[in-house]
Amino acid sequence: MPGQILPPGQLPSPCYIIDENRLENNLRLLQGICQRTGCRILLAQKAFSCYALYPLISRYLQGTAASGLYEARLGREEMPDGEVHVFKPAFTAAEFAELLPLADHLIFNSGQQLQKFAPQAQSAGKSCGLRVNPEFSTQNHAIYDPCAPGSRLGVRRTDFNPDWLPLLDGLHMHTLCEQNSDALIQTVAVLEEKFGEFLPHMRWLNLGGGHHLTKPDYNLPALEECLLYLRQKYDLQIYLEPGEAVALDCGFLHTTVLDVLPAQAGSPQCAILDGSAACHMPDVLEMPYRPPLQGSALPGELPYTYRLGGATCLAGDVIGDYSFAQPLQPGDQLTFEDMAIYTMVKNNTFNGMPLPAIVLHNAAGEYILHKEFDYADFKSRL
Ligand SMILES: *Cc1c(COP(=O)(O)O)cnc(C)c1O
Repeated sequence: MPGQILPPGQLPSPCYIIDENRLENNLRLLQGICQRTGCRILLAQKAFSCYALYPLISRYLQGTAASGLYEARLGREEMPDGEVHVFKPAFTAAEFAELLPLADHLIFNSGQQLQKFAPQAQSAGKSCGLRVNPEFSTQNHAIYDPCAPGSRLGVRRTDFNPDWLPLLDGLHMHTLCEQNSDALIQTVAVLEEKFGEFLPHMRWLNLGGGHHLTKPDYNLPALEECLLYLRQKYDLQIYLEPGEAVALDCGFLHTTVLDVLPAQAGSPQCAILDGSAACHMPDVLEMPYRPPLQGSALPGELPYTYRLGGATCLAGDVIGDYSFAQPLQPGDQLTFEDMAIYTMVKNNTFNGMPLPAIVLHNAAGEYILHKEFDYADFKSRL
């Protein structure tokens, strides 16, 4: 039953576990950036929308960033005192009409969309911005690089028309992914080179997400110097809208080994879990990456190496290769780390796979069952 306190050791499998103490530690760090620089930080809901935690998040951050109507509505409903900022590559007229009363900042992706919608937004007293593309890539994950040639995200300097300035209160850019402040500082230099002449006309500058602020090696002083510089030089309200950094390392995916298959020459032995990369941690396949797993090491480091896979029929539903001190057995429990972000918001019921339950590990150390899913969640979408 949702709300029920679970005895530790009796968690449902699979389940996501969200750790509120860890989340609050991240939030304290983010609040410090705001206090020292005057910037405002929004939760990018795209990464983490488990709104049971929004009351906690709203004590530290200034609002939510949304990718469209539904996230904007969730932000408005569940973090009602926060700001709601929306960017979408293209809005429909019907969507925009519903969005308008919910949003504070509306950020457009082209001059055409800006000219179509900004006049009504301005009459409604809303703040309008344009996403720009500095065309400066600082990372190699092509799927996450909005500065790659041919990108559909953001207006390039050659396409920017100064006639639009009366419609604009701010500029937005989002070009980073899991990056440190050096990448931001380099990108800001290019932004200034290309769009600096327009910044004195703006009230705000939104530097998007992708800042790995809560990673232990993140250079906060360098970030803060950059934010203060922008604020002072152009008299701008600076916004950051991290997703990942808000809930970085705040969640787990708890799974159970269902079967261990016979060894095959030349490959690690396969173990099948009740969780799935394809359904429950899709970024493992999309990014791709090897998620940390408690009690394990790199393949070959400990005596028993396994290839861990999901219980779907997708041959590529493989989480990765891991080694263990003891042989794996059916019934063993395996807990993957850093599973709060880009998991619950992206999971799916491919193959009719059940969705993991969601458990909150609260500040008092209790495990609270927050959500359970069943057949109806699979059937109702089809
Ligand atoms: C994805 C996204 C974010 C959040 O990115 P993170 O990498 O999770 O910090 C913020 N703003 C925009 C426009 C995005 O598309």
